[in-house]
Amino acid sequence: MCYTGAGLNVINVVINVGVGLPAKTPVRTTHIPLLATALESPKNPAMPPARPDTMPHILIVEDEAAIADTLVYALQADGHSTEWVTLGSAALDQQRQRPADLIILDIGLPDISGFETCRQLRRFSEVPVMFLSARDGEIDRVVGLEIGADDYVVKPFSPREVAARVRAILKRMAPRVEPVAAATLFQLDTLRMQISYRNQPLSLTRHEFRLLQCLLEQPQRVFSREQLLDALGVASDVGYERTIDSHIKSLRAKLRLVASEAEPIQTHRGLGYSYSPDHA
Ligand code: CA
Repeated sequence: MCYTGAGLNVINVVINVGVGLPAKTPVRTTHIPLLATALESPKNPAMPPARPDTMPHILIVEDEAAIADTLVYALQADGHSTEWVTLGSAALDQQRQRPADLIILDIGLPDISGFETCRQLRRFSEVPVMFLSARDGEIDRVVGLEIGADDYVVKPFSPREVAARVRAILKRMAPRVEPVAAATLFQLDTLRMQISYRNQPLSLTRHEFRLLQCLLEQPQRVFSREQLLDALGVASDVGYERTIDSHIKSLRAKLRLVASEAEPIQTHRGLGYSYSPDHA
């Protein structure tokens, strides 16, 4: 997983469409049993990797064992591997040596605070961070200090809710390479809401961006005008067909400025529109 952006609810996904350790600091670790077996036999070269790349790895930084336990349980039940440390300094060491895909970070820690941990973390890592806060008031600081948190929960929290939010963050962060991989000439930057076509940045309105993004992510799929309106977050109403048609028309005009002979957006009479890599 590759993180190119940081900040509160900020995702930076740049898709280049065309081209297509043991810890030094003693830490308390938790693994799902199957993987623990693999970790305990590092000398056997035939052993599978300690964690499959497909299993997101979550680092939990929390000094209260009972809270950490509930998180470990909920996250493992949700298909994540977990590691648990109790100190901010240990979290920083861990992230340098065995980078997690997401860190759940308590604010009140025995050594350095969660805020300070995050600040130091941001010097070398853009990993998503979810803060755990004991008080509502602390959250103002999370937001106010803009220290690069992606989400926060206030104690007491529901472990299942935390797991759901972890899933949501990871989904948001995941570079959506595959759906667009078939396209060879578009480059999509979801943070800047920028799409380049044949290496030329397009100057798109918000609606044009969303429309093109929607089409690019599923090449060859025919979208009805109603589905495209959904992608724009606009309610279907009288005249919606004309709305989509007019956005598509201006989008095509912008694409033609880059490549006059190409017709990447195809019209399907009576059905809607699709993106065709063959015509791009
Ligand atoms: Ca604490």
